[in-house]
Amino acid sequence: MPPEFHADAARAEAPALHPETLVVTAGRPGHEPGDPMNVPIHLTSTYVAGGEHEYGRFGNPSWTAFEETLGALEGGRCVSFASGQAAISAVLDLVPNGGIVVAPRHSYTGTIGHFEDRVATGRIEIRWVDITDTEAVIAASRGAALVWFESPTNPALEVGDIAAITAGAHAGGALVAVDNTFATPLRQRPLADGSDIVVHSATKSISGHSDLVMGAVVATDDATVDAITARRTLVGGIPSAFEAFLALRGIRTLPVRLDRAEATARTLVERLTGHPALAEVRYPGFGTIVSIVLHGAEPADELVTKTSLWIHATSLGGVESTFERRRRWPAEAETIPAGLVRLSVGLEHADDLAGDLLAALDSLG
Ligand SMILES: *Cc1c(COP(=O)(O)O)cnc(C)c1O
Repeated sequence: MPPEFHADAARAEAPALHPETLVVTAGRPGHEPGDPMNVPIHLTSTYVAGGEHEYGRFGNPSWTAFEETLGALEGGRCVSFASGQAAISAVLDLVPNGGIVVAPRHSYTGTIGHFEDRVATGRIEIRWVDITDTEAVIAASRGAALVWFESPTNPALEVGDIAAITAGAHAGGALVAVDNTFATPLRQRPLADGSDIVVHSATKSISGHSDLVMGAVVATDDATVDAITARRTLVGGIPSAFEAFLALRGIRTLPVRLDRAEATARTLVERLTGHPALAEVRYPGFGTIVSIVLHGAEPADELVTKTSLWIHATSLGGVESTFERRRRWPAEAETIPAGLVRLSVGLEHADDLAGDLLAALDSLG
């Protein structure tokens, strides 16, 4: 009988099983004769009173199966949300009124939106930092309630030292939350580095098929998990049972998808570097996202109309390769180069992807 793996066990000690095994075995029903292999999609708003579940906004077995799996990978207890944005909101709700938040200047635009919205209403104060400058981030964390961390950043792909910054921030009493959407728990485990909270847009690589929007928070401390769960129950930013089912189906192949797309990303970086149409090729050395910088907005806008395989679309982490010029969004930080195109590398053959992109780059005026 395969070992049952629960988030509680992950929390107590380092997981005994490899992540490749956990994504397959976690969140399964029992192994009694006749048990279904997968947790069914529980389409119900309410449950007969007196059992584990009472009402659909409080819990759903289809969420639990996904939460056990992502929680096992990150090494904590997972609370799933309707979107990455809802997950981020629940974490920011933990900051006391007037509390100071330290955040990367180049955070994801939606995250910047959360911060700016709360600053505008006087709810929080913000200190923007360059996350590659460990000393500056630790200095800024003095007196702060929360250090928000995104690494690699979207779309600048800057990498910060999570362990060092967490230690420095904890010394000053700040909580540390890490948006782990880009790295995934297979390339970076912030809770093992001492961080308090991990956040995901499960819309991206975790589910991996561009067919749903979901988010998650993972933490080790029970009081933090309870507070996050209470926010979800109160505000109601809950995932649907169907999307949780799809996200679980997606995460089961995360290791193989990631390995393949990452290998292709490396090939693309090699073949793109030095192309005369490019001022820069950015790659943090791991993961499936590459940012290329063209000589201005115009050639970048032209590029995205000239490929046949690469799809001009926002979002990332799907099986299909997508790309977009990030500054087409007014909310994107002005310090992101106007000609930066973020590539999300999918599962098509590396030669086909490279050929399509290089032909488009060659054809630019
Ligand atoms: C997409 C994204 C989010 C927001 O998630 P949604 O699922 O779109 O709400 C947060 N952080 C990062 C790094 C993202 O890429």
